[in-house]
Amino acid sequence: MSAYATCVERFIQSDIRNPLYDKPDMISFSAGRPDAAVFPLSDISTAFHVLFSKGELVQALQYGTTEGLGPLREKLAAVVMKEAGVVTDTGNIMITTGSQQGINFSAQLFVNPGDTVICETPTYLGALNTFSVAGAQCIGIPVESDGMNIEALQQTLEKHRDAKFIYTIPDFQNPTGSYMSLKKRKQIAELAAVYGIPVIEDAPYSEIRFTEEKLPPIKSFDTSGMVIYLSTFSKTLCPGLRIGWICADTSILQKYVLLKGTSDSQSSTIDQFLAYYYLTNSDWKARVASVRQVYLKRRNTMIEAIKKYLPDTISYVVPEGGFFVWLKLPILMDDKELLNKTTAFWNVSFVPGSGFFPEKNKNNYIRLSYSNTPVDAIPEGIKRLGQALQ
Ligand code: PMP
Repeated sequence: MSAYATCVERFIQSDIRNPLYDKPDMISFSAGRPDAAVFPLSDISTAFHVLFSKGELVQALQYGTTEGLGPLREKLAAVVMKEAGVVTDTGNIMITTGSQQGINFSAQLFVNPGDTVICETPTYLGALNTFSVAGAQCIGIPVESDGMNIEALQQTLEKHRDAKFIYTIPDFQNPTGSYMSLKKRKQIAELAAVYGIPVIEDAPYSEIRFTEEKLPPIKSFDTSGMVIYLSTFSKTLCPGLRIGWICADTSILQKYVLLKGTSDSQSSTIDQFLAYYYLTNSDWKARVASVRQVYLKRRNTMIEAIKKYLPDTISYVVPEGGFFVWLKLPILMDDKELLNKTTAFWNVSFVPGSGFFPEKNKNNYIRLSYSNTPVDAIPEGIKRLGQALQ
C-alpha cells in the first residue's frame, strides 16, 4: 500500500466532530460539550486579573517546563487528585494539552503499527481514532453496566500476551455511561500487576457523579506502577483552557515528558497560570458539587422525555453520571442514514453508535448527549427523535 493510501485509510472524519451538528435550529444531542452556562466566568476573569496584577505576565508569556507549571502540578496533586481519591506527588504529574493528548501520547509511546491494544467495546471514539492512526489493532472487551467483563479481559490477556495496554474509562463511560464496580477496579489493578501491562485509566467524567457512592479510581489500587491516570478540566471547568494531566509512576512519566518535549514542548503557559490561579482562589469541592446539579437536571429531563416519547422497544441504562445516554434500537438499521434523516427532516442530531465499536460491526445504537442542550429543548428533541424512529 502506498504511503498516501495508508494515510487516507488511517485518518477518518470523526463522528463526534461533524459540522452538521452545528446547523442553526438543530436540537443537538451530539457533541459531549459542557454547558457554557456553567463556565466559571467570574472566577476565570479573577484569575486573569490576578495574573496581570501580580506582574507575572512576563513569566506567563515565556516558555515553561515540559512537565508543566510547578505550582499548578502541586495544586493538582494536593487538591484535585486528592478529591478524586489518588494520593500522589507533584513529581507524578505532567500537564497535557487536554486529556486527548494523554491518549495520543499513550498510543505513541507504547504502540507500533500492527500492535494489539485492549479497550472496552463500545468505547470513546476519539481514543479509537487515535489508536487507529497509531496502527493499533484494537480488541474490544464487552462493557457491562458495572464496567468491563473481567473474564473476557483475562482470556484476552492470556491470548494476547504481547498486548501493549488496556484502555478503560471506569467512570460514566463514554458512550455507555457505565460505572465500574469496586471489585472490577481492584481486579484490573491486579491484572495489570500480574501481566505487567499498562492500564490507561481515562477519567474525564469522574467528578460528574450523581450517586452518593464515590468509587476510588483504579489508580488508587495500583501497586505495580502500571496504572496511568488521565484527567482534564474540560468537563468540570471549561475545555477551551485545554488543561489536562497525566498522573503516573515517575519512570513511566519521564517517557511521557520526553515525548511531550518532541511534540508541543509544553502546554500553554498562560492557560496553566489561569488554571493555577483558579485553583488558588476557588473552592474546588464546591465547584464540582454545583456542576453535578446542572447535569443531573439535564439527565433527569432526558430520561423523562425518553420514557414519554420513545418506544418501549428501545433499551438503555440510566447513567449515574457523565454526559451520555446510550440507546439500543430494537432492529439493525443504518445509524448514519438515520442521522442523515433526523438532521434533514426533524432538525435533531445524535452520534451514530457504530463508530464507538472497535469491530465497527454494530449499527443499532445511538449516543445522546444531554450536557449541552438547553433543558427546555430536551423534551422537544426527544419527541422529534421518537417521530423519526417511527
Ligand atoms: N476521554 C474521553 C472519554 C472523552 O470523552 C473526552 C472528551 N470528549 C476526552 C478524553 C478528551 O477531553 P479533553 O478535552 O480533555 O481533551
